[in-house]
Amino acid sequence: MPDQPGKNAIEVRGVRKVFGTGEAQVAALDTVSVSIRENEFFTLLGPSGCGKTTLLRLIAGFDFPSAGEILLHGQDIAVLPPFKRPVNTVFQSYALFPHMTVAENIGFGLEMLGKPKAEIKARVAEMLKLVKMEALAARRTSQISGGQQQRVALARALAPQPKVLLLDEPLSALDYKLRKDMQIELKRLQHETGITFIFVTHDQEEALTMSDRIAVMSSGKILQVGSPRDIYDRPAERFVADFIGESNFLKADVVGVSVGKATVKLSSGVEIPASLPDGFTPNGKVTIVVRPEHAQLSATSSRASLSGTVENVVYLGTDTHFHLRLDDGEPFIVRRQNSRGVGDGIVQGGKVGILIGGDAAQVLKD
Ligand code: ATP
Repeated sequence: MPDQPGKNAIEVRGVRKVFGTGEAQVAALDTVSVSIRENEFFTLLGPSGCGKTTLLRLIAGFDFPSAGEILLHGQDIAVLPPFKRPVNTVFQSYALFPHMTVAENIGFGLEMLGKPKAEIKARVAEMLKLVKMEALAARRTSQISGGQQQRVALARALAPQPKVLLLDEPLSALDYKLRKDMQIELKRLQHETGITFIFVTHDQEEALTMSDRIAVMSSGKILQVGSPRDIYDRPAERFVADFIGESNFLKADVVGVSVGKATVKLSSGVEIPASLPDGFTPNGKVTIVVRPEHAQLSATSSRASLSGTVENVVYLGTDTHFHLRLDDGEPFIVRRQNSRGVGDGIVQGGKVGILIGGDAAQVLKD
């Protein structure tokens, strides 16, 4: 999905969720507002305990907000019990019935809804095809692999044609290779069915691979919402830059501000351009972030933004990482693709210049 406005499937407005009372009170969600568009693959990403599952459970109707409202296609769903919401959930544990066959598991939700037999049969056949499980339709789910169980759980959740599918860390029980395959498979399923997927994970790579947009969460708040590219290239806060990918943080002084850009002075005295987070006007001292692959090395420090000493060179097949110590004592990492040539003249213990070009630096809000 391109990052342009579409119709909203879900609107979460000023939602708080508090557990416990008195001193034991925990705000699992601290006034969260977010809109999730129709037909998008939307991911809630954050560390353990940040409130991802709580938000998913409120949308599913397994729990109720302490304050705020949740709209589905513009309608307040607070009054609807889970089974009346056009929303379905795939759990981490799959929750399949082991004594039933693959086909029976997939048809179970439709049976519960009292759908006619012929309709169930046709829909199950369609779902088996969608998740490529036709050959195992008659097998019990206790006799299939973890990856296959995952496919059945997805087919069962998709069978009643929900408008929104909630997925709570559904890939975490799979091994690395299978998880990678299922990431692509899930993206295909979302694209083919056109259903809005809301996916929960603490795995940044998983979020970047699959999502149209990502909401980064920390301590019950949503810190930033954007496309994987926005979140990676333009993190608005230090937590986001730190949680996703590798980062170099530098102290700088703001010496000028224009639309969306600032000019900042580094500890070396050199001035460079840096992008600004939306709607943020900095002044005085700021922290900027530079991704390791967005900085360049040169064997001389003339015309460089910063200079330092090479402490370590780590060759990693496709890339080489240069661990540097800047002249002001701070660490800095530069990553270079080996297809662009390794090292030319840059050796451990040597002095180097670091070039931070036009689009490489981003000012952080905190
Ligand atoms: P994980 O990735 O570990 O599942 P999460 O981001 O999904 O974490 P939540 O399960 O939403 O986090 O929990 C958010 C906070 O609310 C945590 O501090 C958790 O301990 C607390 N919490 C969640 N459910 C309850 C509950 N039923 N009673 C009390 N506290 C709860």
